[in-house]
Amino acid sequence: MMNRFTEKLYQKFPYPLQNISVSLYGLKLRRQRYNRSFQFMLEKLKRSEWESKFEILEHQNRNAIRIIHHAYETVPFYKSWYDEHGVNLKQIQNIDDLKNLPILKKDYIKKNPEQFISSSFQKGKLIRTLTSGTTGTPLEVFQTQESINLQWAVFWRARARFGLTIHDKHLMFGARIPVTQSHQSPPFWRHDYFNNRVYISTNHISEKTLPFIIEYLNEHEFDFYVGYPSAIYHLARLIKENDNRIFNRPKIIVFGSDAISSSQSELIKTVFGVPLTEFYGMVEFAGTMGHCEHKNFHVDHEHCYIEHSAINGSGSQKLIMTGWGNDAMPFIRYDVGDYGTPVESDCTCGRQTPIFSSIDGRMEDYITTPDGRKLTGMNQVLKYGRNVLEIQLHQKHLHEIEFNIVPDIYFNEDDKKPLIREFRKRAGNQIQIKFNLVNEIKKTSKGKFKAVISEIDS
Ligand SMILES: [Zn+2]
Repeated sequence: MMNRFTEKLYQKFPYPLQNISVSLYGLKLRRQRYNRSFQFMLEKLKRSEWESKFEILEHQNRNAIRIIHHAYETVPFYKSWYDEHGVNLKQIQNIDDLKNLPILKKDYIKKNPEQFISSSFQKGKLIRTLTSGTTGTPLEVFQTQESINLQWAVFWRARARFGLTIHDKHLMFGARIPVTQSHQSPPFWRHDYFNNRVYISTNHISEKTLPFIIEYLNEHEFDFYVGYPSAIYHLARLIKENDNRIFNRPKIIVFGSDAISSSQSELIKTVFGVPLTEFYGMVEFAGTMGHCEHKNFHVDHEHCYIEHSAINGSGSQKLIMTGWGNDAMPFIRYDVGDYGTPVESDCTCGRQTPIFSSIDGRMEDYITTPDGRKLTGMNQVLKYGRNVLEIQLHQKHLHEIEFNIVPDIYFNEDDKKPLIREFRKRAGNQIQIKFNLVNEIKKTSKGKFKAVISEIDS
């Protein structure tokens, strides 16, 4: 992640220099993610996804027990929390016994971040990432190098099911802002040469920029598109409404991050004329699932166990995750705030891991700007919320946005600045910003939290 100084400098660079700077950052990521250990893990994962039910269960039992003991012995929070709840670890013999452990909520971590890091690791040597804040509570996550490699190996194993490799050229509809708002002429994309990918500035996708984007896509080959489905949908809808065509099709589109409705997916499929695949994961790396060829989400049993508990009258169930892929900061029986629809029968693809037909609850609204842009991935702004327990973006009127914040005791005026800065960076200056400090943020009628709410008709 760039700091404020390098970011300001980057914004002043001409296009070729910005490409070099994006690529150099890409080189750093490439070295961190795709080393020999990654390659080794990926090959191993491609074999273990075909394990039998017995092997899968055996693997989950052994690793869940290991991480619980590791957490109790080296993570201060778990030691005192389990003691407080009278947990007897001897009684936890397999994954069925996990239900005897209390459920971990995000705000516990938020209140005690230092207490969650295992004493087996030096904090300074760990890799720090911020969660995107889709559930309204941004977190700092610390990972080991090994965990980063495993996480990326799990991502790429899912992509490999569709013939993709890390060398394939891709177009990213991501959260980063490669092009500043003041920049009103093409190119609206920047290159990361080391990872063979191009970042499109999703905040620049509009009726005005559409001809340039279409020309670029039709003249450049991509193996796949990847990123926020809501951003890809926004582009697809503009293409359809303007009766344009994409001739140069990628092989597949990979969705990550947020969710969209099935009618929106259908529109993307029609406009781009290619299959879609989805991956479910989170920065905490507590649980991940990837689509198979038959469009079911398979639990990545090599690093997690996912419990689900029914909510009244709905097929969709609350997901509780236990992950053992990151010894530096283990998440045990973690309520991540997402929901999924489990399928009891086996998948016809032949993999024996538990499956879900859909993941629900990550549906975010767009923020609409007065100049007609639909901004996606705006939950990314919320990760800059400091000293907040919960945070939400709410748009009631076209010219105004409200930040609803449940502050902690340290919250002050200065904490508004990064939120304003990050919002302006994406939306520009046409929208007024209002802050509401509240005791509680209202959930939807189904009891879910929505990080971004818009009441503007789309
Ligand atoms: Zn399958």
